[in-house]
Amino acid sequence: MENLYADIIVPLALGPLTFAIPAERSEEFEVGWGVEVPVGTKIYTGIIKRIHTTRPPYKKIREVMGVVRSEPLASVEQLALWEWIASYYMCTEGEVMRAAIPSLLKPSAGTDDDFAERVFSLGQVQWLSIAPDLRDEHKLSTALDALLPRRKARYAAMVEFLEVVDDGGLDTEIPRKALSAATPIINHLIEDGLLVSTLRERTPQYYLASLSRQRTLSEAQQQALDKLHSELDRRNTTLLHGITGSGKTELYISLAAEMLAKGRSVLYLVPELALSEHLISRLSEAFDEGLVVYHSQLTPRARTEAYIKLSRSEGGYIIVGTRSAILLPLTNLGLIIVDEEHDRSYKQEDTAPRFSARDTAVWIAGNLGAKTILGSATPSLESFHNAYMGKYGYVTLGERYGSGELPQVHISDTIRSAKRGERKGHINKELYDDINTALSKGRQVMLFQNRRGFAPYIECPDCGWSARCPQCGVTLTYYKGDRRLRCNLCGYTTSSPSKCPSCRISEPQPQGFGTEKIEESVVEMFPTARVARLDGDTASSRGRMRSIINGFESGQTDILVGTNLITKGFDFEGVSVVGVLNADNLLSRPDFRADERTFQTLVQITGRAGRKDNCGRTVIQTSQPTNATIRQAAAGDYYAMARSQIRDRETFGYPPFARLVVLSLKHTSYEFLSFGARRLASRLKELIGPEAVTDAHIPSVGRTAEMFFMEIMVRIEKGRSPSEVKALIREALGEFSHDKVTKRISVAVNVDPQ
Ligand code: ADP
Ligand code: ZN
Ligand code: ZN
Repeated sequence: MENLYADIIVPLALGPLTFAIPAERSEEFEVGWGVEVPVGTKIYTGIIKRIHTTRPPYKKIREVMGVVRSEPLASVEQLALWEWIASYYMCTEGEVMRAAIPSLLKPSAGTDDDFAERVFSLGQVQWLSIAPDLRDEHKLSTALDALLPRRKARYAAMVEFLEVVDDGGLDTEIPRKALSAATPIINHLIEDGLLVSTLRERTPQYYLASLSRQRTLSEAQQQALDKLHSELDRRNTTLLHGITGSGKTELYISLAAEMLAKGRSVLYLVPELALSEHLISRLSEAFDEGLVVYHSQLTPRARTEAYIKLSRSEGGYIIVGTRSAILLPLTNLGLIIVDEEHDRSYKQEDTAPRFSARDTAVWIAGNLGAKTILGSATPSLESFHNAYMGKYGYVTLGERYGSGELPQVHISDTIRSAKRGERKGHINKELYDDINTALSKGRQVMLFQNRRGFAPYIECPDCGWSARCPQCGVTLTYYKGDRRLRCNLCGYTTSSPSKCPSCRISEPQPQGFGTEKIEESVVEMFPTARVARLDGDTASSRGRMRSIINGFESGQTDILVGTNLITKGFDFEGVSVVGVLNADNLLSRPDFRADERTFQTLVQITGRAGRKDNCGRTVIQTSQPTNATIRQAAAGDYYAMARSQIRDRETFGYPPFARLVVLSLKHTSYEFLSFGARRLASRLKELIGPEAVTDAHIPSVGRTAEMFFMEIMVRIEKGRSPSEVKALIREALGEFSHDKVTKRISVAVNVDPQ
């Protein structure tokens, strides 16, 4: 017999490794199974990707040690997906495995014995049945009669047992948990030979989802649903572009119910589960036990059980989760819904695999036979462009469900307001009056201030001038320490001017007040109002976030101040006024998507007002009241925004007209880092072309306490093969990491950064 080898994925930053399969045990090993393998001095859980007879060219080939569980750990579809993610996002299958497999299912250890101890088991549960020699009406009643006089509790337990069994027959086995009797009583019954006990693996329950609570769709919803059907028939991916409050959720539920009725599963992705309580309660009302909720804050055990449950199922589940849920074993998957598809949290940016769950859903639709729906009130320009070009289907839903109208939107000029002396603590008179009116009617107010990920900049209080890079056109970042302005793209620096170069009247001032300061001044200005704040600091845990949201929802707070956490999908009925305190912050982000994101944020936050009646008002404060993007957002004119932004993207060669790959380098020494980064940039220019690669530059967060960072951006123009360019990048990185000097610099690769 020929020798067998297995290519095995291990949860390390490595591609598959080849091991020998011991000849006498070849039958134990199958593709997708978890196995114990030695790597270096440790034992890891690996997953068999391929079994073959090609001996690798090196001398010493180590053997697979054994099987971890007697069932597959990953499906063939998952393995295909991992291979794609690794190649597209330029990471390794090991890194994808690390993210996909729950930690308890991939133990590692120093020795074989330690390893065996760490293998996850589902836990045991006790099952009870009547002792075989008593499975006879006559014998059983004699035994029961004997208990009655002195053993009343044991008698009662036996009666309860028979009640639970009901007419199931005397050989029926029931879980111990079904009985209310105390453990000593049960133990006596076992000792006395009335009951027998068996330990069984606690298998997660299976349910098939089916729709139990349907709502009647409005006419507009019904039309959109019909159109969705015909688009889904013709294409793998369809974009559902429906304004805020149009009731996209009910369409998703209808489509999900149809898939589930065919026995297939549905994956429903959301940006953030803590903000989706309404959705989850609606889905569990609709689908009961067939709903599986999966997110990163489940306990390791709960994650593992969900994983095993899904991998053993044959479909028929609806799974709701955040981006990592797309890596679950989704057997017989029929439909993927990506709600709020424009949301940047679908992209993992901090660690490999730096994948986009949205784009992965589109790949699955094209390659693994599920359909994908991308839904949003403000689609990403990439998705919109794909729909426009006919690559995706396109369905619109242009009216709100029920009587709700979109709120009136006002743009309020902060500079004019300040000049007239009508501005108090970040709030213009217009917004101030609206807040007062709302409070006097017992209505609620939401105030939005973007602060997270916000780089400070300077602005002239008189004319609104802000400093921009003469070479790149992006807003310069203000550094308080040395009062200098710096370009995050090219590194250009200059000192902060003491007189505005535009109007020559005032000194431009650093901008960058956060939610905390706003909360303070709001409390001062509206002393009778109850004010709460929702941002990264106050919402440090899911529980705290929930309680702030609940407090606002139940009307215990009147004014909610928050960051973009409050823009996402909330449906508060009592809100009649929404204020955006400073839209300039959004626009001035040094990012080519700044305008698109500004539009999305403004439209999403605007959509929070007046959901249930027609008196919603939104006030957008800005020093640039004529800015095109702000006007488009105020008018809710997505198409105008898309037209002008897509034109700019084409002119400057940004997505969707090019693909970007960003290489981030870090090291503790700035000199060494910048030497290495320059060397890598010049090698990339040599391989790929000088115009496709930027110089090494300092990113917006240029350093932490102990690390310096630098970035290089590669632009893959339309018409160039992305996989060829990625191969060249890999070549340069390979040289870089093998070079004696530069190998000490670590490089992270981010494909399609968001
Ligand atoms: P979107 O996600 O498009 O912003 P939602 O799905 O949240 O909108 O719907 C907005 C509101 O309208 C929700 O409160 C929802 O419960 C309600 N709604 C939508 N469609 C229906 C329907 N067919 N029957 C009853 N209520 C509906
Ligand atoms: Zn610049
Ligand atoms: Zn000025």
